[in-house]
Amino acid sequence: MRELLRKNIASLNPYSCARNDFTGEAQVYLDANENWQDFVAIHDANRYPDPLAVTLRKKIEEVMGLPFKHTILGNGSDELIDNLFRCFCEPGKDSALLMPPTYGAYRVFADINDVKVENVPLTTSFQIDFPSLESYLAKEKEQRSNGRLKLLFVCSPNNPTGNAFPLDQIERVCQLFDGITVVDEAYYDFSEKGSATTLLEKYPNLVVLRTLSKCWALASARVGIAIASEELVAVLGSMKYPYNLGTPSQALAYKAIGRSDEVQAGLDLIRDERERMKGLLENIACVTEIFPTDANFFLIRVTDAVGIYHYLAKDGIIVRNRSKELNCENCLRITIGNKTENDTLLAALSAYKEL
Ligand SMILES: *Cc1c(COP(=O)(O)O)cnc(C)c1O
Repeated sequence: MRELLRKNIASLNPYSCARNDFTGEAQVYLDANENWQDFVAIHDANRYPDPLAVTLRKKIEEVMGLPFKHTILGNGSDELIDNLFRCFCEPGKDSALLMPPTYGAYRVFADINDVKVENVPLTTSFQIDFPSLESYLAKEKEQRSNGRLKLLFVCSPNNPTGNAFPLDQIERVCQLFDGITVVDEAYYDFSEKGSATTLLEKYPNLVVLRTLSKCWALASARVGIAIASEELVAVLGSMKYPYNLGTPSQALAYKAIGRSDEVQAGLDLIRDERERMKGLLENIACVTEIFPTDANFFLIRVTDAVGIYHYLAKDGIIVRNRSKELNCENCLRITIGNKTENDTLLAALSAYKEL
């Protein structure tokens, strides 16, 4: 892993904040130039947050089974994605590999960091194209000179297509690629295909991303989790904003994770709705294809995505038009809502008349 790091990150002397210099309990804290007065009197609002989120990460280990020493938290997984680019990719030199159609943020963060994006598209049925991937990686290895391919993003379950890749395929990617493989498991909880965290011991250059934004119903708090080797976690820890996760967010996350029974029941509800909606979508005239999903949304192909998008929006129903994504012509992405919301959507789709 170390040889893959950007030189400035490998030799970084990290910022040391007051909360790093002294850990433990004291009576009087006069080390961080905080104001001793707390005007809102909630979540220790006048104090800096724990930069290492120790209490929350212990809870994450206890409830989610992600070992404390192998986790680092980000301000949403978006921060972690950005930080991975900043750790590994020399701007203007190194590159990252994406398999479109996939989550748009990877490309945006690559662009912001001046990192070239290489694409090895998924097949038209949204599977990993192994022959193309193998030949691309072999060619890249051979032609390496100044910069190189550092990061490879696998989103599983994939956004916007919904399908998860079987673990043996994820493992195959780890075997083929000698850089950092990032497996984004934002929708992991909705899937039954297993987690790449089981591969971490065998593949030290693997990073798995989770988030509390979806299944844990905590998008407002902005809590993402990276699971990786201790060494990689230490690097990510050295270069992140010291106080990247505010105390209110850490507290909200602690609370949500403490309610895992309710979250599990909520997950079952979403899975039931997924099953029910699948059956009903199949009988709607303007829906021509329903892609298999392991997530809390459907990608569907319709007769006229733009027309139907506007028709639904006029009725106050907002879905995501994904028809400009590769191999997603006339596709809409529909989040599974509550029963009433889903019924509203289904009724509107059923009533849609072609012009
Ligand atoms: C929603 C989503 C995330 C979550 O991002 P946060 O910044 O944690 O809210 C990450 N990856 C994918 C693919 C997503 O769809």
